[in-house]
Amino acid sequence: MPPLDQADHGSATTCPYCGVGCGLRAAADGTLSGDAGHPANAGRLCVKGSALGETLGPAGRLGAPQLRQPDGGFADTDWDSALTTVADGFSRIIAEHGPEAVAFYVSGQLLTEDYFVANKLMKGYIGSANIDTNSRLCMSSAVAGHKRAFGEDVVPGCYADFEQADTVILVGSNLAWCHPVLYQRLVAAKQERSDMRVIVVDPRRHATCEIADLHLPIKPGSDVTLFNGLLGWLAEQDKLDRDYIDAHTAGLEAALTTARAAGDIARVAQDCGLRAEDVAAFFEAFAASPRVVTAFSQGVNQSSAGTDKVNAIINSHLAVGAVGKPGAGPFSITGQPNAMGGREVGGLANQLAAHLDIEETAHRELLQAFWGCSQMPEQPGLKAVDLFEAVHEGRVRAIWIMATNPVVSLPEAERVRAALAGCELVVVSDIMAETETARLAHVRLPAAGWGERDGTVTNSERCISRQRPFLPSHGEARPDWWIISQVAARMGFGAAFDYAGPEAIFDEHARLSGYGQAAVPRVFDISGLAGLSRADYDALEPRQWPLPAGADAEFDSARCFGDGCFATSDGRAHFVACTPRPPAVRPDVEFRLVLNTGRVRDQWHTMTRTGLSPKLAAHRQEVTVDLHATDALASGVQPGGLARVKSPRGEVFARVSCSGEMQRGHAFLPIHWNGQTAARAEVGKLIAPVVDPISGEPEFKHTPVAVSPLPVRWHGYALLRNDDADSAHNWLARWGEILPAYWCLIRGEQHLQFRLAGFEKPQEVASRVRALLGAGGDADWLEYSDQTAGDYRAVWLVDDRLEACFYLSARPDLPGTEWLSECFASERLAGNERAALLAGAPSTRANEGPTVCACFGVGRQTIVDAIRDQDLDNEAAVTKRLRAGGNCGSCLPEIRALLADVAA
Ligand code: SF4
Repeated sequence: MPPLDQADHGSATTCPYCGVGCGLRAAADGTLSGDAGHPANAGRLCVKGSALGETLGPAGRLGAPQLRQPDGGFADTDWDSALTTVADGFSRIIAEHGPEAVAFYVSGQLLTEDYFVANKLMKGYIGSANIDTNSRLCMSSAVAGHKRAFGEDVVPGCYADFEQADTVILVGSNLAWCHPVLYQRLVAAKQERSDMRVIVVDPRRHATCEIADLHLPIKPGSDVTLFNGLLGWLAEQDKLDRDYIDAHTAGLEAALTTARAAGDIARVAQDCGLRAEDVAAFFEAFAASPRVVTAFSQGVNQSSAGTDKVNAIINSHLAVGAVGKPGAGPFSITGQPNAMGGREVGGLANQLAAHLDIEETAHRELLQAFWGCSQMPEQPGLKAVDLFEAVHEGRVRAIWIMATNPVVSLPEAERVRAALAGCELVVVSDIMAETETARLAHVRLPAAGWGERDGTVTNSERCISRQRPFLPSHGEARPDWWIISQVAARMGFGAAFDYAGPEAIFDEHARLSGYGQAAVPRVFDISGLAGLSRADYDALEPRQWPLPAGADAEFDSARCFGDGCFATSDGRAHFVACTPRPPAVRPDVEFRLVLNTGRVRDQWHTMTRTGLSPKLAAHRQEVTVDLHATDALASGVQPGGLARVKSPRGEVFARVSCSGEMQRGHAFLPIHWNGQTAARAEVGKLIAPVVDPISGEPEFKHTPVAVSPLPVRWHGYALLRNDDADSAHNWLARWGEILPAYWCLIRGEQHLQFRLAGFEKPQEVASRVRALLGAGGDADWLEYSDQTAGDYRAVWLVDDRLEACFYLSARPDLPGTEWLSECFASERLAGNERAALLAGAPSTRANEGPTVCACFGVGRQTIVDAIRDQDLDNEAAVTKRLRAGGNCGSCLPEIRALLADVAA
């Protein structure tokens, strides 16, 4: 990890990954730890937060502005040239084709200050609403649902509600892996309160189900039916809170009429693919718990009916008056660290800043008066999927992409790639040089990374926290707000973007939130944070909104709408009649499995940062398609083998697993792997550009696919010493010509590992490997070949130090590679170790199996052996003996599963 910046502004900062928004502290020696004073995590961190220090090096960073050259390569340039190129390009295209011909595509990774300035430039000064964000892919259905029900995009509750509820319902959320610290808080609360119930509604039996009292493995797309059924049942059982409904809501009768069509419990169960007794238990638990939280995430949002799913959930809460009260409320968990901040500043194409509405004249006039700008778009801009389609069609001719990788993450990713390849001007601001998107840029702008940035983020419970810089900027990298402001100045808008620093932007953001509240009241009001000096801004403690001017430090912002007053024009919450709609694309004879997509425990987005951490690579090493064992059999694939996962739009190669989490007819692929880390692993290529008609959020959770064996003739792996920060790129460049059909890159402590498989004859591969690796002058080149069995092994040593090894076999059952990590750690290998390398099996070294506890590097076999040999019967005993699970706790569900396996 690089040294801390001596001129740092304080050591407390916020995690850059998920929407839990945990606080961290950077110590003077460069170590990072959970911030005990942060309200989100009280010192806890998950494994991703704990491994942040491994991701801060210079590997892969973009260090200077770059312009694409005629030969397709990139050359460094100075900031002035790069900024002028961007400004001139945008200005020319606007002059020739109008403001609708340009667009920004931004990210929930941006700080609020960056987001604010980008939105101001596009909507206030360019005069187009063509700015959308990758948060569109994550929680825009929740935004739309909140607006329909509450009149404003407000999450009514807070994290403490998870601890205070009698019943917590998790819908479409693998909280244990995707929001681990919030999950740990829930686990701790449940351990303290034996009467607390947790119900998981999710097609997969994933890690979160480990604490569930009831798991409803719902048929994908039937969530509206389930919650309509609940609403109808509540009415039939006379469980509605009539006083609350009469005083504080509107629209019950229409919603109820629609909901009653779901039928009785038996019919709901049948339509949702559930057991009637489980549906009855769920309904009873909901009705019996005045303190009930229904938390939902991408499993609800990423659907062609996502907004209706959100409103069906909210309807149930309105029916019993469980909104904005301690331990009670619907709760949207955001995926990204600053998705909420982006919503505050109008980062979505259909929003204006400060929760103002683009389609309301009074709102537009208010914002225009505040900024003093001459124009304001009157219609929403293009949402993410439509935006890239407009690029493809040439309607948008210049696009600036900030801190995101749409070529991997958007549906129909190949079409997005083609759209950018044909676009007149593509500008990319990023911390990394070689993302799939950055490769298509005409101008690359190096952005400051986490640890270098200075600003604020807002987490899922509306808590604003500071991200503070504690590292010097990498190379020429600059904050995003500065880059945008400099371009704005070169486009002629300098006076409106003359910010002294992020504190000036935050001040404008806070003042705007309070501006015109009498005429256009909004819940979002942080005018109490306006006027902070630089020192005040530096010292800003985490604070939830709303925080209006005049509010003192004790002002209670924990919950909203608890008084029954909502942000709608009539002050009432609105029930929304939601008619169930099945997923837009259904399975058929050719594509008969339903693909679900999501995250794994230790990776984040497209791995541009977490992919740098050996610790995080240890848990799930390859892209894996998870199947029910029966579907694997029917598809002709086996666990551990390789499969081709195909949709009408593309294909992905993946290792097969049958974890036991999947229902029959379903498949699951993680979203993280991409062209930098694996061959044909970009899940976005499979997804149809089908979106929710209201929110525009794509249907990532329901893609019909076919799975078939990948007919490779050999399997293997290569491990290569990793001496310099950029060696992954160097090796990829060298290996590019001979990389086989299937490869996956896994980063180790001292080495890089490539898992390999191909269609060639094994002998052909062996001779290519020999040509690439075996040509070293003073190297010892050891080989073993058994052509009959199809085995080939080669080891390259220099002064008895392992430099590289290669194993190839016609059989897929290669031995594990974990023991080889220790060989790379050794400066000089003994004779028996050299022999073991050639034998392809550990000598005295134990083979740990896959890593379970990434924090302490404890493998599966070590845990199983300890449980068996030392009669350990609970996770605390395992932690005491091996330390596994004793830090972030993310692996505790897996340790408990191993305890159960051994006991069985
Ligand atoms: Fe970061 Fe983990 Fe906390 Fe999410 S739960 S903010 S990834 S430390």
